[in-house]
Amino acid sequence: MNITGMKFCERCRKKEADVVLSTVRFCEPCFIEYFERQVQRAIDGEKLGAEMFSRDSRILMAVSGGKDSMTLWNVLNDLGYETCGLHIDLNIDEYSEVSRRVVENFAASKSLDLIVVDLRKEYGKSLMELAMRDACSACGLVKRYLMNKVAYEKGFSVLATGHTLDDECVTLLGNLTRWNLEFLQRQYPILESTHPKLVRKVKPLFRISDEETAAYARIKRLEFVREKCPLASGATSLSYKKVLNELEQRHPSLKKAFYLGFLKNKSLFGKEENFELKTCESCGMPTANVGLCAFCKLLERPKRRHDEKSKVKPLSI
Ligand code: AMP
Ligand code: ZN
Repeated sequence: MNITGMKFCERCRKKEADVVLSTVRFCEPCFIEYFERQVQRAIDGEKLGAEMFSRDSRILMAVSGGKDSMTLWNVLNDLGYETCGLHIDLNIDEYSEVSRRVVENFAASKSLDLIVVDLRKEYGKSLMELAMRDACSACGLVKRYLMNKVAYEKGFSVLATGHTLDDECVTLLGNLTRWNLEFLQRQYPILESTHPKLVRKVKPLFRISDEETAAYARIKRLEFVREKCPLASGATSLSYKKVLNELEQRHPSLKKAFYLGFLKNKSLFGKEENFELKTCESCGMPTANVGLCAFCKLLERPKRRHDEKSKVKPLSI
């Protein structure tokens, strides 16, 4: 701080700090440099034991239209990586229409390739017609299955998602509070392929908080969908996020210490067991089940009646 009360960027010490977050105080150009450097460190695999991808990798970028995945797609593009976007249109009324439009506009404005999988067009059912009670778990299953299937069938070497430090902290807290050892062994920013038809998955934003992606998206004037999915209750993850944010307020950098400390001490939880995967009788993709995979089972279930749909609020981006 100088005599006029103006706070300077902690990096260049010349310009006014206009990005003031719980962990950093930068001017905009220094913030963008810092942000890109954090993502590059993640991609290069610093302290991870392997790089996420290289300049020649064929990268499939899963984009929902939300702040985090739009941010990651933009950073990867600015860092010079060649990416193709993948958007899964779940046909959740206006929410999906708006999300798809955001992703398509971005791809067109940057001349980037984009694959859109329209659930109803490809499989005859929207998410609400597929899901029985728990729309969120059906949604997770459908997205995981389709992301991997497209990445495998189109020959991509890696699938990138926009999971942030906050997402990883919420998952970690959930896994720890329930002492879910199997999930703790598996949780990592790089998920190696354990089957020829399972594509490697990476989370290049694992060092970046939600607060930081919000600042990045604002500075870069990125268009993204602000509303949360109208079907998501997300009660548990929201309460975990709230607690973590309260702790971060009192103890800056706690989220980073929590998650990066976990990565450092991960061996304490033991090694993941490699169990043999079977092949789905219908689609030929790998599955832990005998017979049909979870996705094909979901497709086989009788269609949900349209009038059982929950009301979806209209929204804008
Ligand atoms: P979520 O599970 O909604 O928190 O999303 C986590 C990540 O999954 C996002 O950052 C995206 O990379 C990806 N993702 C989520 N929804 C979609 C979608 N509809 N289409 C493509 N990718 C998605
Ligand atoms: Zn199947």
